[in-house]
Amino acid sequence: MEKMSKGTCKILIHNYPTLYPENFKCNIGRGWFGLVNNLSYEISRMVFNSNGNLIVAVDEIKETKGELRFYCTISEKLTLLRHINFKFMSLCAKLDIMVLYNTLQTIRQRFYKTSMEQVSELIYRYCKKSTSICEICGDPGECKLFNMKKKTLCKKCREEEESNAHS
Ligand SMILES: [Zn+2]
Repeated sequence: MEKMSKGTCKILIHNYPTLYPENFKCNIGRGWFGLVNNLSYEISRMVFNSNGNLIVAVDEIKETKGELRFYCTISEKLTLLRHINFKFMSLCAKLDIMVLYNTLQTIRQRFYKTSMEQVSELIYRYCKKSTSICEICGDPGECKLFNMKKKTLCKKCREEEESNAHS
């Protein structure tokens, strides 16, 4: 299967220089470029709007079991809220009432999410989306077993890969 070329990876570095370091690892098919490009756009917009409070650096993009994996390092400036939150968590851990802490976190997230949580959710959504996009051509696809491995491919690419595998 044709992987995304070095040149295409360079486009990501060029388009989103704050997100992609020169040496980030990239090992996905061409078909997912649009998906990764859209995800990068959304993250970079969040980084831009954070006025320097949020930093995201991509380490690696790859495919595992037919699904996109997007590994990055997210750092967020410690706001007063997060500081209080952290103190509260330490207290709950000490008092052995983490169940209460977790319940309150779930409620809090319904009203307010930290930038870190928002980026993680965004990545999760796009990775799920990848299981319906052909990794080779970008057409709608399905995540199914292929040669004992899970692959997300459209009907046409699956047939082509199958005939290549037999020849
Ligand atoms: Zn295809």
